[in-house]
Amino acid sequence: VLRTGLTGGTGSGKSTVARRLGELGAVVVDADVLAREVVAPGSEGLAAVVEEFGPGLLTPEGALDRAALAAVVFSDPGRRQALESITHPLIARRTGEQVAAAPDDAVLVHDVPLLVEKGMGPGYHLVVVVDAPVEDRVRRLVGRGMPHDDARRRIASQATDEQRRAAADVWIDNVGTTADLERAVDRLWKERLVPFRDHLLAGTPAAASPAAGGDAGSAAAQGAGRRVLDRVLLALGPLANAPTAALGSSGEPVDVVVAVPSGVDPATLHGALLRAGFAPTGAAGGEWSYGSCDPGRPAVVRLRPAG
Ligand code: ADP
Repeated sequence: VLRTGLTGGTGSGKSTVARRLGELGAVVVDADVLAREVVAPGSEGLAAVVEEFGPGLLTPEGALDRAALAAVVFSDPGRRQALESITHPLIARRTGEQVAAAPDDAVLVHDVPLLVEKGMGPGYHLVVVVDAPVEDRVRRLVGRGMPHDDARRRIASQATDEQRRAAADVWIDNVGTTADLERAVDRLWKERLVPFRDHLLAGTPAAASPAAGGDAGSAAAQGAGRRVLDRVLLALGPLANAPTAALGSSGEPVDVVVAVPSGVDPATLHGALLRAGFAPTGAAGGEWSYGSCDPGRPAVVRLRPAG
């Protein structure tokens, strides 16, 4: 399964992108939908919320009064934490179930509004960020009935542009028409997501393809090394007992050198690296090499015994 994370500020066009990806064949897991599901009437989650916050947070029909709850947790981090300690494990469980149900050859798209804020990027093979000018976003939110000041406040409380850029493997600027946006998504699907998935399934590194919606030379190229490094460390960390890794000097392709602690057989790390999107390309002189399955971001990972 190719795990794609999709995010973007409110009003950026993220849901439009998710819908289009679903039409193209992606399995879309929508974090907002799951967040509502786990506190639906009759759910275990709603019972726990009522126990914590009192029955005053129910509508006369017995559903969760979201506005009332938002008012309570918005300005009180302690209360917010209490809420999240109820909902997050339930959302994580439902997410896990949906991911587990996806077929092996799925392109999974996890639509998560707070992906950047929560530092979830390294857990995905690819992070797609949708962006639109702040004025457009405000206008879209107001068009959906949100008061102007609320829309601005909401946007200001989310990740900054710089934080989103650092997390983005793919940056979609939603500055044209909806049809333009859909065309960009179609290209992303055909030129990057599908070949990435195919290489992942086959266990083969991708040849760098300039047509693959790659980020070389663009703003998204900045930080590419960091993103590869974070993914490798997340994949190997639990197995290799605190490996250290550094970026090689070349920059292009991204080159990550991992020092494998003594006592760890590099062969045991193959599976974890492949699941993270790096396919073996060979071994020489005690060093094992891997190439990224992502056609849009050439990267080499080398495992070396430490010391
Ligand atoms: P998000 O999920 O990021 O909040 P949506 O995809 O729901 O954003 O888009 C917000 C609103 O703006 C929707 O009504 C959508 O149809 C509209 N929209 C999105 N992109 C465009 C665009 N390029 N041109 C015009 N309207 C757009």
